[in-house]
Amino acid sequence: MTQIPIMGDDLPATMLAMLGDHFEVFPWDASPENPALKIVRGLVTYGHPRVDGSLLDCCPEVRVVSNHGVGVDHIDVPACLARNVAVGNTPGCLDASTADMTFALLLAAARNVVTGDAFARGPEFTHYDPSRLIGHEVTGSTLGIIGFGRIGRQVARRAAGFDMRVLYYGRTRQQAAEQTLRAEYAELPRLLAESDFVTLNCPLTEETRNLIGAAELAQMKPTAILINMARGGVVDHDALLQALEQGRIAKAALDVTEPEPLPRNHPLLSLPNVVIAPHLGSASDKTRRRMQEMTVENLKAGVQGEPLPFAVRA
Ligand code: NAP
Repeated sequence: MTQIPIMGDDLPATMLAMLGDHFEVFPWDASPENPALKIVRGLVTYGHPRVDGSLLDCCPEVRVVSNHGVGVDHIDVPACLARNVAVGNTPGCLDASTADMTFALLLAAARNVVTGDAFARGPEFTHYDPSRLIGHEVTGSTLGIIGFGRIGRQVARRAAGFDMRVLYYGRTRQQAAEQTLRAEYAELPRLLAESDFVTLNCPLTEETRNLIGAAELAQMKPTAILINMARGGVVDHDALLQALEQGRIAKAALDVTEPEPLPRNHPLLSLPNVVIAPHLGSASDKTRRRMQEMTVENLKAGVQGEPLPFAVRA
């Protein structure tokens, strides 16, 4: 039986099982001298290994880049398409899971879940004190969502359960969703000024890189909490660090950073007003299973030269 060579970044056993005996999987090694690059027909990415024109030029047989995830900011999509290499991703199946995690981080930061956990395990917790670790009320507050796409709209649905007023900002007005989700469009400055919580749910693009910098952080309330579920590059980390140190915003909750992970001695990691997660947005059992299936479906179609079921367009 002929095996189709592909290159993947430490693929889990469940995905390998889905690939069956038809694929030979080479470990990810993008150095030009790697001989596997000459024969691989597909690349499987998880979000971090960069796929650009120079890598593709070393892979003359590659037909598809199949990304396990919806965000494709690490893939030069025009460079792929210009070389007739299809690009696939996993949109839709992770919306609920990522919106759940957005709320998990929002609540954790607002209600001191992480600091409270550490305190409750430590020796200082000797008696209940009603003035200890008072958080920010979530119910009835104002939520600003930047990027009102599939995930952003799911965040708005969850906000309704907390009686939140929802503002959103994006490139495109979404009149239908405004009605069904009771969300109000706001230009970025108004959203930043009026929101108690700001969640980032947009893709990382040239337009959104450093979308939240010193000027934007200065427009937020000093009591506001920023939740980054998008990509680290959407936030200027130096500006965020300063804003958090100087109390210009209250807290940040970060599922993503740039770089990712941050260097272990990065000052953001030692701030008490930061909650951080290791990129867990879509990390739930059911969602991850479906993401793996979609990644494999795209890969199988792509290596055969067939249209991808979940294709990224230019
Ligand atoms: P989506 O459906 O394409 O929604 C993205 C939204 O962002 C769209 O409404 C889009 O508006 C808007 N947008 C694009 N450029 C913008 C800009 N310059 N300013 C403001 N809004 C802008 O994508 P999705 O499936 O919701 O995913 C969004 C992103 O979440 C992904 O790209 C990924 O980076 C991130 N993500 C993170 C995790 C995690 O684990 N933390 C998990 C999944 C996804 P238009 O319709 O006008 O383009």
